[in-house]
Amino acid sequence: MIVVAIDGPSGVGKSTVGKALAASLGVPYLDTGAMYRAIGLLARRNGIPLPIADPDQVGELSEAAEVRVAGTGGDVRTFLDGEDVSEEIRQPEVSLYASAVAAIPRVRRRLAARQRELALSGGGVLEGRDIGTKVIPEATSKFFLTARPEIRARRRFDELVRKGTPQDLDSVRTEMEARDEADSTRTDSPLACDETYQVVDTSDLKPEEVADRLRAWIVSRQAVDLQRPGV
Ligand code: C5P
Repeated sequence: MIVVAIDGPSGVGKSTVGKALAASLGVPYLDTGAMYRAIGLLARRNGIPLPIADPDQVGELSEAAEVRVAGTGGDVRTFLDGEDVSEEIRQPEVSLYASAVAAIPRVRRRLAARQRELALSGGGVLEGRDIGTKVIPEATSKFFLTARPEIRARRRFDELVRKGTPQDLDSVRTEMEARDEADSTRTDSPLACDETYQVVDTSDLKPEEVADRLRAWIVSRQAVDLQRPGV
């Protein structure tokens, strides 16, 4: 069974690369950020202000909610209690809510357990912040994607333009930096890279080039594993 972990900050191309890689390996793709976004949306809809003063309130909401990410390839949809919220969760204000709810251990426990179960039920490419460190440390291959900050902000900016919700580049960059800082400094499962990861700087590469590199590494790694006695 193939389980690939792709972690890294926002705007490094995890989703585009993850989808292409999953399709070429013939395994499911799971965008774990979409699950945190759905819970962020739920907190926002419940009128909970930021910063979150009562984490247990959000913990309870998340435990009562059903979050489902379904579909393949280019058409992956996110459902919150049966409602398709795929577009709404991409709004910039929901990004900040996602990062805020993601710092709550009760929320993480619930979502990470579900992610792990999905990965172990049939393999897959999972992308997020803590996949290789917490959700599935025994993943077949772990990749940590990085890119220069100005490139990451530009990619996110272009994505918002494509979706018809443009924002100015400076505020995109400020929001991204705030989120990355929160994700890297929180106590529970912060974004972190260790020696078990292959680090790939995607700044000057096209998504398909990154996907090809990752795929080549996975294939060569499998060949090594197959040659090891007892594997
Ligand atoms: O990947 P994306 O930007 O959609 O994720 C939204 C937010 O969800 C991140 O900023 C992060 O706070 C949180 N997240 C997380 N752990 C993951 C995936 C996402 O904490 N595995």
